[in-house]
Amino acid sequence: MSTKEREYVTMHCETPMVSTCMFSGSEYYCPSCGTGLGIMNTESVEATPALLKQHKKNRELFDQIAGDCIAAGMWRKDCSKCNVGDGRDFSKGMGTEHRLHASHADLEKSDKAYQKLYGGILS
Ligand SMILES: [Zn+2]
Ligand SMILES: [Zn+2]
Repeated sequence: MSTKEREYVTMHCETPMVSTCMFSGSEYYCPSCGTGLGIMNTESVEATPALLKQHKKNRELFDQIAGDCIAAGMWRKDCSKCNVGDGRDFSKGMGTEHRLHASHADLEKSDKAYQKLYGGILS
C-alpha cells in the first residue's frame, strides 16, 4: 500500500516562493515583492497543478537572474579558487569563499542581479 506524499508550496503575495541560499537568513524569496523570509516565517499551502506550474516558472525566472549572484559564504564548484581539489568534489579541498576572489566585473554583475531581485521580478 502506498500513500502519495502531499506536496506543499510556500506562498507570498499569492505566488509560490522559491527556496534559495542567496540571502543569508532567508531561505525563501518572493518573486512578486522581493521579500526574503526564513523558513519559520513562511506559509505553505497544499500544491495544486496550477501552483506547481507557477512555482516552476518562478523558479526558472529566479535562476536566470540569480545565476550572477555571489552570496556571502558561497563556494562555486566550477571555480578553481573555490574548489582547490580536483574540480569536482569539495572534499578534495576548499579555497576561500567566492566573493573574496571574484573579479570586479563578476562582483558588479552580482550587484546588478541583486538589484533586480530586490523589489520582485514578476512584472
Ligand atoms: Zn511577496
Ligand atoms: Zn571562486
